[in-house]
Amino acid sequence: MIKKITAVHGMHDCLFPDTLLWENIENIIKNTLKNYGYQEIKLPILEKSKLFKKTIGESTDIIEKEMYNLFDKNKDSLTLRPEGTTGFLRSIIENNIFYNNRRFWYNGPMFRYERPQKGRYRQFNQIGIEIIGLKSPYIDAEIIILTNNLWKKLNITNNIFLEINSIGSIIDRQKYITELIFFFKKNLKFLDFSYQQKIYRNPLRILDAKNKNIQKLLNYAPKLKNFLNEKSIDTFRKLCEILNFMNIKFTINNYLVRGLDYYNDIVFEWKTNNLGTSKTICGGGRYDKLINKMSFNRDKNGVGCAIGMERLILLIKNTESIKLDTDFLIDIFLIPMENSYTLKKILIIGELIRKNFPKLRILTSYLFKNLKKQIIQAIKYKSHFVIIIGLKEINNNSIIIKNLYSKKQVTIPENKLILKLEKIFKNI
Ligand code: ATP
Ligand code: MG
Repeated sequence: MIKKITAVHGMHDCLFPDTLLWENIENIIKNTLKNYGYQEIKLPILEKSKLFKKTIGESTDIIEKEMYNLFDKNKDSLTLRPEGTTGFLRSIIENNIFYNNRRFWYNGPMFRYERPQKGRYRQFNQIGIEIIGLKSPYIDAEIIILTNNLWKKLNITNNIFLEINSIGSIIDRQKYITELIFFFKKNLKFLDFSYQQKIYRNPLRILDAKNKNIQKLLNYAPKLKNFLNEKSIDTFRKLCEILNFMNIKFTINNYLVRGLDYYNDIVFEWKTNNLGTSKTICGGGRYDKLINKMSFNRDKNGVGCAIGMERLILLIKNTESIKLDTDFLIDIFLIPMENSYTLKKILIIGELIRKNFPKLRILTSYLFKNLKKQIIQAIKYKSHFVIIIGLKEINNNSIIIKNLYSKKQVTIPENKLILKLEKIFKNI
């Protein structure tokens, strides 16, 4: 027996009508981004492995265990991108599109070798939003205001909440990490093996541990906020002020550090309690030193965030915040009764209707069965109307239009078809 070939573990297909919901959500996001003056950039999915190794941080989960690496025929080491920001920066450095005040967005699949579960996959889609060359709490606020606006349009504000934090400068964090390692070493017995290993490699990751005992221990740990420099404290205070001014609710989570090494100052996450442990729908922060790390003669500021599309869609489905009209999936189902004249006629009629009504969904039946069976098929397709052409109609230059919902049927002269359809679809 032939063994069925299945999809790769952690990667899956998105089927209709989820694809329709996806398209709707994506359009709302794209239009909002345009509305704020952001420009789209399309980026490759494969990048050189060293791009990520150099930037994301040696001891992050992504670099340590989640990368999909491969060698091409030239033996070059390549990686399926695990995130968008580094590839985005590679592109704007390479293409020298380094004007101040540039706002960009991109959209596409990312790959991480994670343990798949609800809301966590090995291939998932992100919409990334980035602002280059500007540093001000107003810029940080803009991304939060924009995303807040998105949640309003997607009708999920009641199921999503904002957490923000400042992680200060890289120097502040180094001082803090020294103290934190000292604290964890003193309390080694409270940490299980996997966390003990993190102490030297990435102690900040212990801060967002889900384990209750570790969370208790953290109450006694040194706090990052006590290590921040004056300027970072001031910037953070201003951001909080702007968010309050704009009536955007948030909580300060001192343990929010984010999984990537390159952030500084402001970090934020939009979370939900609706998706089990996959809580974060959108996460981001400032990365003022990253561009310099990638291109020594450039010192540019940056801030950005990424929205996880699958998690967003799960949340929208769970909360039914967007209801798609799926009563009818086809507007007109064209039925030629079997005969070469009618088949050719229906080709002409179909193209004519599509040209006049580019937004309608028009499908031609090539079932070559009796009318009853074709009507049953049209109902299965969730069609609203059928147009029937048989030999009699050809001889009379007429067309039958039947509304499958009201069951009403009319026969009209062929040259009145477009007028009739204009009337029908104006009222719908
Ligand atoms: P998490 O803490 O849930 O692992 P993360 O901090 O690794 O998230 P980011 O790298 O900031 O996530 O990516 C931004 C967004 O992309 C996340 O908030 C989430 O919505 C989505 N995302 C990240 N990893 C996955 C995944 N494996 N499957 C589905 N969505 C994901
Ligand atoms: Mg992760």
